[in-house]
Amino acid sequence: PTTVEDALLDGLTPPQREAVTHVDGPMLVLAGPGSGKTRVITRRVAYLVRGVGIAPWNVLAITFTNKAAGEMRERVSELLSEREARAATIATFHSLCARLLRRYADRLGLPAGYSIYDSSDQQRAMKQALNDLEINPKNFPPNSMLHTISNAKNELVDAEAFAQTAGDFYNRTVAKVYKKYTQILTRNHALDFDDLLLKTVQLLKQHPEVLAELRERYQYVLIDEYQDTNHAQFMLANALASGHQNLCATGDPDQSIYGWRGANIRNILEFEQHYPNAKVVRLEQNYRSTKKILAAADGLIRNNSARKHKQLFTDNDDGDPVQLVTMQDERQEAHWLVERFRDLHVNEKLAWGEMAVFYRMNSLSRVVEDALRDAGMPYQIARGTAFYDRAEIKDAVAYLRVIANPADEVNLLRIINTPTRGIGNQSIKAMQAHSLASNRAVDDIIRDPMSVPGLSNRAQNAVAKFAKMVDEWRTAAGLNEAPDLLLGQQGLSPAASDDEISLRELVERVITESTLEEHYRKDKSDPDQERLANLGELISSAQQFEEDYLNEAAEDGNDAPTLRDKLLALLERISLVSDVDSVDQGEGAVTLMTLHAAKGLEFPIVAMVGVEDGLLPHQRSQNEGEKGEEEERRLCFVGMTRAMRRLYMTSTRYRTIFGQTMPVIPSRFLNELPTDAIEVCDVSEDGDDPFGDDFEPHTSAREQAGEFPPGTRVRHPQFGIGRIITVARSGSHTRARVEFNAAGVKTLILQYARLEKV
Ligand code: ATP
Ligand code: MG
Repeated sequence: PTTVEDALLDGLTPPQREAVTHVDGPMLVLAGPGSGKTRVITRRVAYLVRGVGIAPWNVLAITFTNKAAGEMRERVSELLSEREARAATIATFHSLCARLLRRYADRLGLPAGYSIYDSSDQQRAMKQALNDLEINPKNFPPNSMLHTISNAKNELVDAEAFAQTAGDFYNRTVAKVYKKYTQILTRNHALDFDDLLLKTVQLLKQHPEVLAELRERYQYVLIDEYQDTNHAQFMLANALASGHQNLCATGDPDQSIYGWRGANIRNILEFEQHYPNAKVVRLEQNYRSTKKILAAADGLIRNNSARKHKQLFTDNDDGDPVQLVTMQDERQEAHWLVERFRDLHVNEKLAWGEMAVFYRMNSLSRVVEDALRDAGMPYQIARGTAFYDRAEIKDAVAYLRVIANPADEVNLLRIINTPTRGIGNQSIKAMQAHSLASNRAVDDIIRDPMSVPGLSNRAQNAVAKFAKMVDEWRTAAGLNEAPDLLLGQQGLSPAASDDEISLRELVERVITESTLEEHYRKDKSDPDQERLANLGELISSAQQFEEDYLNEAAEDGNDAPTLRDKLLALLERISLVSDVDSVDQGEGAVTLMTLHAAKGLEFPIVAMVGVEDGLLPHQRSQNEGEKGEEEERRLCFVGMTRAMRRLYMTSTRYRTIFGQTMPVIPSRFLNELPTDAIEVCDVSEDGDDPFGDDFEPHTSAREQAGEFPPGTRVRHPQFGIGRIITVARSGSHTRARVEFNAAGVKTLILQYARLEKV
């Protein structure tokens, strides 16, 4: 390449070039997996800046995950400069909205220090709503209430609008719950995930001057994975593009897999109706997979009736057929995978990082994990939220939330007696009651515990001490100034003063002074002191975050962000972390993730486990008939099309779920794969066992049978106490029939049932 432009267009096919170099006006890139849609978005960001001369801050690229955003930023900074890449906005819908709401908080009467509630905070708020309304959570389960409300918000239906259309008793009750839940969030100065979108759309609707400002700022809008946008995201994209119409969307309707979360496939199907002058680019060459893998995936997706067929070809090798392997059970499945991966590593010199295992549900990962661990293979699990779901981390984060947002009672009540400091449930109830009766915030009441009726002297002292501690942190963080400073004024906060402590110091102080550290240091149930190590990890991650944040702020021309800015940004990042964010494909480890999390990624070697009826398609999808099944088929298609060179799809004859073993059958989807693209083998004991000699079943069956003769009294972790009726060996397994006192008769596989003699 000789010119800058050549470099930006290097390695693109003519249709990809066409999409990258199109400048003004709407464009839809509609294309199958692995055809370069994401590559087009990345190159287009660079091309707009270097090839056309658009200022980078006028470009907004929206990706589906933080991981995808991070990778795109990295690619763009290789093509341009780090500075330019930072100046462009590359974000997810949620992080973009969180940022906009902070900047324009005052327009919505929202304190800039608002909290973003994750699902466990939402649960707490919902339980409180049901409690306040005296509604029995047995009849109106918090989770399904939250799901209904989430769907409504994604359709931009707020509590008031919901109430207007609620006809039957059930919906009228939901309407009441929705209203109460909204009140609780408002009182706590909190937004849930769906609010981020809903409020941003409302902001743009109600404040034309804000919309005008943003349209001016984001002159080029690019959205990847458009097939998974919901109505609120669609409205937001349209609003931002409404003047200049410079909206570039890429996607594949066959990969729409988030219908259950409100994604609306019509957004992409009807793009040309919304933008009649849209340029439509189709990419037909797949660069990712072998011919066999592509043929297998194509054969599957053809069975969806509600779709337009897209031709896809590849110049890649034929490759090996997709292997469909049947095993006896999940233990054999995991063991087989480990041996297969080892073989690929040793004999074909593939790195561990080139291999991935996908499953329909997180709970299927445990057995695979155990097998990998036993074999000493490095692996990583895409469960980015798991770290923040740990109790000790949630506690520490709740403290930080309370410091940042005094109105956040949900978190305040979580930590007021964690670790225990003599403020029992009765005292907490008394303060809540007093807060309601006197119409004062709990954060206010803890400063004046003498006024609370029914609070013992001891509790009063403990509360006063707690309040003083929180105040000291807020002062250290520069947060205890006049309250109007806490209200966002265009998101500006006072300049950092010299004596301000660092974010790391704040987090460290909170963990020590709250006595969380001491509490977990003494924790007898945690002999490895893992919880303590996790708290240490939180401190290091705060430090890392602070460094990154300072760099970014400097690029934005802000040399002295305040501790408050940093704290809010850290809390936002924690709230918006998603499972796949923790995955580092350069890690040199086998990656384990759900099919949903695998979207957009690629791996040379992919194994999909548990490809069985009831799991894929999932049991639950069957309630929605054809539509449900078609979405499951798309999910299977997404999984298969992640594979570059080899694809394994495994199923078992028996699977143990919640300690109960059931016979299962291979997924109906496997029957739909074209026979010339697949190879079927059965390594289960009942099968023809082509791998017979290689395969070594675990050997403990006979020993285990002797250990539990009929009549033995046993304890099972879920079913409790019972008595063995019969024990029978079958192949490498020993099945026991056990009569449980409470749970009745169950058939269990001894090796997995974790029975204890009592
Ligand atoms: P998905 O639908 O799964 O998100 P996609 O359409 O976004 O797929 P990309 O991830 O952009 O596809 O590209 C798939 C792979 O093909 C990547 O490894 C990418 O680098 C490579 N690729 C894309 N276009 C070309 C090209 N013109 N020449 C060589 N490699 C390409
Ligand atoms: Mg992509």
